[in-house]
Amino acid sequence: MSIAVFPGSFDPFTKGHEAVVRRGALIFDQLIIAVGTNTSKQHYFSQEQRLKMIESVFADEPKVSVRAFSGLTVDFCREVGAHHILRGLRDEKDFGYEKNIAVMNRDLDKGIDTVFLVTDPAYSSISSSILREIAKNKGDIRPFLPNGMDIEV
Ligand code: ADP
Repeated sequence: MSIAVFPGSFDPFTKGHEAVVRRGALIFDQLIIAVGTNTSKQHYFSQEQRLKMIESVFADEPKVSVRAFSGLTVDFCREVGAHHILRGLRDEKDFGYEKNIAVMNRDLDKGIDTVFLVTDPAYSSISSSILREIAKNKGDIRPFLPNGMDIEV
């Protein structure tokens, strides 16, 4: 069985993330969304809120599960038996950043490879950091979040 981990901060989880998960679920038998605590980022939504919001989106999708994690992504992959890390690429800036992480992760564990999905243009301008700015300033971020998401704002 092929298992992939889609790690991220997901602060918040957006329509762009959702599209990556739905496409990833066509490739892998099991997809685990790993909601991390990125030490260099300050969170807007608590980890508990992010987990609940994401779970509400994929409640009817048996291939997709949601887990909290901290520490190295490759350690989490080993823990759950995943040989692939799934990531989304919006543009060349994402590529530069993601390429370095993918190379480092492969140095850490040659048995784990990163698979990239290029974002649908409709979602390529959606970023969690911009949504956090909008939310902080009392703007409505719901149009950028998955339909049916149980949002706690
Ligand atoms: P991290 O803090 O690990 O960068 P993010 O939650 O920002 O976590 O992003 C998780 C993954 O989703 C990354 O691979 C990122 O490039 C990708 N991603 C972010 N926004 C989008 C989007 N709009 N469309 C597709 N992929 C995206």
